[in-house]
Amino acid sequence: MLNLVLFGPPGAGKGTQATNLIEKYKLVHLSTGDILRGELAAKSTLGLEAKKYMDKGELVPDEVVIGMIEVKLDQNAGAKGFIFDGFPRTNAQAQALDKLLEKKNAPIDMMLALEVEKPELVNRLMGRGKVSGRADDQDINVIENRINVYNRETAPVIEYYNKQGKFRSVDGMGTIEEIFARLCNAIDKVNGGSGCGCGCK
Ligand code: ADP
Repeated sequence: MLNLVLFGPPGAGKGTQATNLIEKYKLVHLSTGDILRGELAAKSTLGLEAKKYMDKGELVPDEVVIGMIEVKLDQNAGAKGFIFDGFPRTNAQAQALDKLLEKKNAPIDMMLALEVEKPELVNRLMGRGKVSGRADDQDINVIENRINVYNRETAPVIEYYNKQGKFRSVDGMGTIEEIFARLCNAIDKVNGGSGCGCGCK
């Protein structure tokens, strides 16, 4: 299996790059943001509860997102691997993910952290807000709060994976293709360069 954490602040381009990466490496994309927005669209109890946090740019409680990931891992038992996007966002989530993957004997291989400067993040999020209709992308105060929450609660997750020797910093500035090439480079160094994601050559 190939299990990747795609990491970075809001607006770093995780979703865009994940779409390209799952195609190339044949992985399953698990985005907690997408799952939560799906719950919200379905007006489920979980979705309506999560909305309170999402609208303010705060994190949804750990136990909620950990439970969601557990369900998705079970639903995709035969997968060749996963790209975790927007998860883990706290050290508690990172520990819980390690425990869940321990049961599968398939640990996280690496954390790819996209580095993007703050003014560019704000630009990208405001741009996305105009087309996506996402409420949390349309209010500068909510955007600022999400970036602050990232710096305060999520950035420490870097150290969690660094201690395990799994942290890889990737320059997230430039064109989508340039950034994709950098990510593939980092993955192929560990994955043997096969491109198929199963580790064969
Ligand atoms: P972005 O990375 O652009 O902020 P996401 O789609 O990843 O967008 O997340 C949107 C919102 O969903 C977050 O601001 C947060 O409220 C909630 N969320 C997503 N993933 C998590 C998570 N792992 N833990 C807690 N809250 C989350």
